[in-house]
Amino acid sequence: MRFFDTHTHCEFSPDGRMTMEEAVSAATRLGLGGIAFTDHFDIDAPGDNDHFSFDPAEHQQKIDSLREKSSIGIFKGIELGLQPTALESAKKAVALFEFDTIIASVHFIDGIDPYHGDYYGGRGEIAAYSRYLETIYECISNYTNFDILGHFDYIVRYSPYRDKCLSMKRYGDYLEPVLKQLAYNGQALEINTNTYRTRNGMTPVLDEAVYKRFRELGGEFVTLGSDAHETYRIAEGLSELPPMLYRCGFRYLTHFEKRTARCEKIELT
Ligand SMILES: [Zn+2]
Ligand SMILES: [Zn+2]
Repeated sequence: MRFFDTHTHCEFSPDGRMTMEEAVSAATRLGLGGIAFTDHFDIDAPGDNDHFSFDPAEHQQKIDSLREKSSIGIFKGIELGLQPTALESAKKAVALFEFDTIIASVHFIDGIDPYHGDYYGGRGEIAAYSRYLETIYECISNYTNFDILGHFDYIVRYSPYRDKCLSMKRYGDYLEPVLKQLAYNGQALEINTNTYRTRNGMTPVLDEAVYKRFRELGGEFVTLGSDAHETYRIAEGLSELPPMLYRCGFRYLTHFEKRTARCEKIELT
């Protein structure tokens, strides 16, 4: 079966450490069906994050020229950072361009970047994690122009707590409305393999029950994204996921072209 890496960052992201050309070459070598460039676009980002955006016109022009000589799919994407206070601006910014795929992600909570650790100070783990899920729900209830919810458990990546899993068991009350909303709108739930890397000696865990519940609620689409910022991480961990998704009841993997879900049948070897 063919894999598509639906979430990557190139030189159009300030933290991207590969060019589009390098990424396409790597993806071709890996035998992928295609790669989506979903560079950061965060509106009203707090602190020193205000440069996390790019010019979609330039981005798309470059993709058009690379497509002419590529044998794999190259998709025009964006990782749109949502905050409850900037949803109107997000609507306007995205409406100006035609993307293949829009990932909606939450990177900031109550104006704080959890990457730097300040967010966790004084909050218990349950409060810190559940506030993140509440923020996702608030954003996706009021902003629906996207295809994929990015890294629903991003908050565990940089957290100092020992429990690094947004499990259905502990956070079901907060996850359930998010999953229902995505299922209802025919939007995809991503598996972002970058989240489950070891950082500071701790390794976050993906809870299979979240995807099982998503399926039970009528969710149809799951996308796999490496969130690679460098070539050697492209497609990292993607090929390990089909058996788990099959157990959860999914029979297809999804990627988006022209904002339309394209499905690849899961084949277990
Ligand atoms: Zn992200
Ligand atoms: Zn990303």
